[in-house]
Amino acid sequence: MAIDYQSSTDKWVKCISSSGTIRAVAVSTTDISNHLGSRHKLSPAGKKALAESLIAGLILSSYCKAGEKVNLNIQASGWANQAIIDANAIGEVRGYILERPAHEVKLAKNIGPWGIGLLSVLRTKHEEAQPYIGTVPLLTGHLAKDLTFYWLQSEQVNTAVGIEVFMDGDQITLAEGFLIQAMPGATDHDLNFIEEHLKKLHQYDSSSPVRSTPTMLLSYLLENQAFSLLEEQPITLKCPCSIDRVKRSLMLIGQDELQSMADENKDFEINCDFCSETYVFSPELIKSLIRDLQ
Ligand SMILES: [Zn+2]
Repeated sequence: MAIDYQSSTDKWVKCISSSGTIRAVAVSTTDISNHLGSRHKLSPAGKKALAESLIAGLILSSYCKAGEKVNLNIQASGWANQAIIDANAIGEVRGYILERPAHEVKLAKNIGPWGIGLLSVLRTKHEEAQPYIGTVPLLTGHLAKDLTFYWLQSEQVNTAVGIEVFMDGDQITLAEGFLIQAMPGATDHDLNFIEEHLKKLHQYDSSSPVRSTPTMLLSYLLENQAFSLLEEQPITLKCPCSIDRVKRSLMLIGQDELQSMADENKDFEINCDFCSETYVFSPELIKSLIRDLQ
């Protein structure tokens, strides 16, 4: 079975200030990051990188319109070669990272764990529409900082992004992130106040009530603002892969290739990168694909 796991705790919460000039989203991914990280058999550092990527993908997709989806693709020189996240407007997400062995990670001074590289976001409205691609360089090695630059560049809106993942051994104890945007008309007073709160956020550890839920986090960050909650969306780990989809893609490799697989007379295992589901193809099953092709 491909993965379809709705978390009972992870969600995103969106709000807007009553003046309409500050909008924000906060997301928690503690549960799904542990779940997917274990499924992918990642190291603790790999789990942390995956959690950060999931948060980034979900912040991006939380501002998608119905039917839209985003694909986040990070190519980096640090703790991961690559991270791929698919997420959509209803909080469904899947993803994987290709870890780089710790001994091969060599980072320049003052560069964060991602290292340098490229961050691309592909937005798709629906299957036929031309996707929109935005790419920015990874410069600081800190995903939140480089995403701030992405929003600044793609939307020209004053933006603050935060991503934090706390670990205890190989378990993630808290993974959360937020995006705050100041729309035209926001006052300096509002912005200064938010900035003060952002600066002080690091004083609160993973067990602090401030960080206990996305709503509590927003309440803290926007403390002086009257705001209304717009949406609360549970997060679902979902991969649509299936034996039929794998069969269809296998049939694309052609009859000769399938025949030589069948001739080896052994089981072939095919793994889904996104959810680590394994599909086993026996020689009989491969022969049946050949018959379907004929
Ligand atoms: Zn899958």
